[in-house]
Order: sequence, then C-alpha cells, then structure tokens
Amino acid sequence: MSDRELYCDGCEGVVLFEAPPCVDGHDADCPELVCTGCGAAVLIATVAFPAPRLRHRSRATRMPHRHAA
Ligand SMILES: [Zn+2]
Ligand SMILES: [Zn+2]
Repeated sequence: MSDRELYCDGCEGVVLFEAPPCVDGHDADCPELVCTGCGAAVLIATVAFPAPRLRHRSRATRMPHRHAA
C-alpha cells in the first residue's frame, strides 16, 4: 500500500498518488498521499485511522454548584 490511483482536482483526472515521506512517524499507515502529477497532497480515510468522535463540550464538564450557607 505505497501508491494509489485517485481523482485529482488539480490534474482533472485519475492519477497516481503516492505516500510522501512521513514526518509524523506513520510509516506505511500515513493517511497522506501526494499527487505524482501536480504534487497536491490529500488525506485519505482508512479503516486503520478511526476518526475520533467529536463531542459537544457544552455540557461535557458540569461543575457542581456550591451553595455556601
Ligand atoms: Zn503521516
Ligand atoms: Zn494532481
């Protein structure tokens, strides 16, 4: 899984994408691919990269009200 063919907006067609040298230590699991045609970088979603659930933080932390007598 070192290269893929994806649609590139810059190239307006399906071109070969390849994983760039990763600086984040993802190695082969790096979700970033770079277009070999124009050099545009894209992020791909893989099953190896489960997206963390976004939670609303409005009620995440409920501080108990203190009623001083
Ligand atoms: Zn990476
Ligand atoms: Zn391209």
